[in-house]
Amino acid sequence: MDTDIIVIGASPAGVMAARNASSKGSKVILLDKKEASGVPTHPANTFFKGMFDRTGEEVDPSYILKYLKGAYIIAPSGRNVLFEGEAYFLDRKKFDEFYIRQAQAAGVDVRFGIEVLNVLRNDGGFILSTSKGKLKCKLVIVSDGINSRIAALLGMKPIKYTEDIAWSLEAEIEAEGIGEPEFFEYYVGNHAPGWKSTYSPCGGNRATLGMYARRQGKDVSDLFDSWLEKFKSLKGLDEVKIINKSVGGDPIAAIPGDIVEDGVMVVGGSAAQSGIGYGMHAGQICGDVAAEAIIKANTSSALLDSYRKLWNKAYRTEYYLGRFALETLRKMTDKEIDEMMKVFEGEDLKFLNGSPFNQAVQIAKMILKKNPSSIISYRAVFRKK
Ligand SMILES: Cc1cc2nc3c(=O)[nH]c(=O)nc-3n(C[C@H](O)[C@H](O)[C@H](O)COP(=O)(O)OP(=O)(O)OC[C@H]3O[C@@H](n4cnc5c(N)ncnc54)[C@H](O)[C@@H]3O)c2cc1C
Repeated sequence: MDTDIIVIGASPAGVMAARNASSKGSKVILLDKKEASGVPTHPANTFFKGMFDRTGEEVDPSYILKYLKGAYIIAPSGRNVLFEGEAYFLDRKKFDEFYIRQAQAAGVDVRFGIEVLNVLRNDGGFILSTSKGKLKCKLVIVSDGINSRIAALLGMKPIKYTEDIAWSLEAEIEAEGIGEPEFFEYYVGNHAPGWKSTYSPCGGNRATLGMYARRQGKDVSDLFDSWLEKFKSLKGLDEVKIINKSVGGDPIAAIPGDIVEDGVMVVGGSAAQSGIGYGMHAGQICGDVAAEAIIKANTSSALLDSYRKLWNKAYRTEYYLGRFALETLRKMTDKEIDEMMKVFEGEDLKFLNGSPFNQAVQIAKMILKKNPSSIISYRAVFRKK
């Protein structure tokens, strides 16, 4: 064996899995086909403190480009609700480098510029064919991002509802003062079917605009172009300079499927564990279980399954509630979304507390108390579409 564990893909989840497994005594190699950490830079570059806190890590100022105070959720009519909370726009390259350094400090052998081409089971372990030769290991952690080719090669289906991946286009833009506001703006409605369009200020004259849509095909550029025009008219801008564009898939409503097999664990976007913070926490859980498997010399799915169980305990309800909410949103008309927003407009939502399920119950109670007839706007729940 060349090593105990090979992690394929230096995603936030993969880096955490490698770091945790190594710090608990396993020999770990982390492979990524990128030429270097953060090159090219991933378009995911924002998160809320509340979500990141689940990792138990401290947010490090060295990778923060801008501190924000929360997000407005804006309905088609312009009605909106404010979610206050510490949030960040990241320098994503610095962020990736920061955690790669942590993994290296924990003893991970990090190798960029190596693509994994195939993974074959061999003698209770694995042989990986890579662009730079073969490597042998006892356990594989797959973290190669959305639509995982490696999981498919291993015959696994780690995403339950692949048709519900939100295909996305995000552009960095430049215009006078566009980066100054202190809140993200997320626009919901039929212009962004199934999810949202975004405006994320990142300081000075820079911001990003994003389009995230479900069940519209992978190319959302037409939807993005319409959003850009709408944004210009909303903000009274004649010209917006596009600096660059990135595309990708966000598995926000796609739900983890088959994420554990004998000797294999799938983590991060490739396992529908959407979100930087949530992906990192999943990576930590995965790395801890992987190290335990190596110590016990038992990489069977029966042992590795405690990764799936621990993840389920921490996140399953939240992800299913999120999917339920986004499915309802996808089927609602703009008019129904506006009706729904009337209930939330002007409300201080700081009272929400407890588990996601408890928060959903608190919201339902609030709706029934404030405007019982608005419940009709949720009839989309029962709509087939
Ligand atoms: C446009 C867009 C914007 C987003 N914005 C946000 C955001 O602001 N905040 C947020 O929390 N989430 C955001 N998301 C969700 C985001 O996808 C996840 O949170 C997270 O970053 C996903 O990482 P990942 O696990 O999919 O893997 P990735 O970060 O995509 O990493 C996979 C890695 O695997 C490597 N790889 C792939 N195949 C191989 C191979 N065969 N051999 C070796 N290496 C390989 C790749 O080079 C890559 O580095 C966004 C998603 C998209 C598409």
